[in-house]
Amino acid sequence: MKIPFVDLHAQYLSIKTEIDTAIAGVIAESSFIRGHQVDQFEQEFAAVVGVKNCVSCANGTDALYIAMRGLGVKPDDEIITTAHSWISTSETITQAGGKVVFCDTDVETFTIDPERIEAAITPRTVGIIPVHLYGQPAAMDPIMAIAAKHKLWVIEDCAQAHLAEFKGRQVGTWGNAATFSFYPGKNLGAMGDAGCLVTGDDQLAAWCAMYARHGGKGDHQIEGINSRLDGLQAAILSVKLPHLRKWTEERRRVAALYDSALADIPQVRTPQVAEGRTHVYHLYVIRCDRRDELKSHLASHGVPTVLNYPKALPFYPAYDYLGHKPGDFPHAFANQSRILSLPIYPEMSEEQIDYVAQKIRNFYSTTE
Ligand SMILES: *Cc1c(COP(=O)(O)O)cnc(C)c1O
Repeated sequence: MKIPFVDLHAQYLSIKTEIDTAIAGVIAESSFIRGHQVDQFEQEFAAVVGVKNCVSCANGTDALYIAMRGLGVKPDDEIITTAHSWISTSETITQAGGKVVFCDTDVETFTIDPERIEAAITPRTVGIIPVHLYGQPAAMDPIMAIAAKHKLWVIEDCAQAHLAEFKGRQVGTWGNAATFSFYPGKNLGAMGDAGCLVTGDDQLAAWCAMYARHGGKGDHQIEGINSRLDGLQAAILSVKLPHLRKWTEERRRVAALYDSALADIPQVRTPQVAEGRTHVYHLYVIRCDRRDELKSHLASHGVPTVLNYPKALPFYPAYDYLGHKPGDFPHAFANQSRILSLPIYPEMSEEQIDYVAQKIRNFYSTTE
């Protein structure tokens, strides 16, 4: 058997007529840029998340950058973020003119450890960027309490966590702003690059919209950037949005099947969901012994796996200048050599899941 890591084509086939009609509609109207499809998707997505404003943009990385510019990041401002994420989360801090301050993760949930945030706060700290990594919310209660106590802003990086909830409240509704990616493989994916930020703050939304569109259309108040969601992507996202809840349930189904199929393999730790959080399984990440050997074993049996990510952020050459050592982020460092992302997508069949689990079981029973 050959199993894809994600199967975007299966999803397309399940809604092909709707997608093709939406694309044809944009072409018929030539509403490629700033058409009504963009306004419509912004309104629909804001309603689904439960926030007042959605400002669409070109991708989830730009969304982080635009939000930080909107919050007024100045040179020497320090921003605390998690040691374990995709580099968009930290590179945009530098782009916006701030200084990256990494904080270790909670070893079980891979999200920023709130107990370690306060130690990283200095008089120059202005904000915190928690990431709801792999689809599990960060501990938003303590994070928001720390932010309030020290008068810091919070931007939630929701790129992997559409519809996830912390204590019954959706991610994206907690921070001063939150950012989403609609990269094709994300839980809500376009057919190209796309992203947005959401915020309950009308003034922040208005500034970010102006900044992302050259500082104001026709009457440039400031110099901005060009970061737009295009009409085709907006129309595609509007077709997919009503299916998101069902697809999320299907991801949970796949995760539950993996959980039980792998439960009794002592060398494997399945994803742990902390109390009060719902996980939307953008990725299904196990921690395992002899990770690299297991990875090649699975590859040789038609099961692709991915490392998300091969290193914790502080240990990439890009952050050599910070001079960090493994002991600075013991949890993120320990996890980087044990994590392995297994194939997951809503259309995955029970047979495929069993096959993956069987190959993992075989690896440990025949080689130990
Ligand atoms: C995908 C992702 C982003 C960036 O999204 P793009 O749309 O690819 O720019 C940011 N943060 C995290 C955690 C991501 O996974």
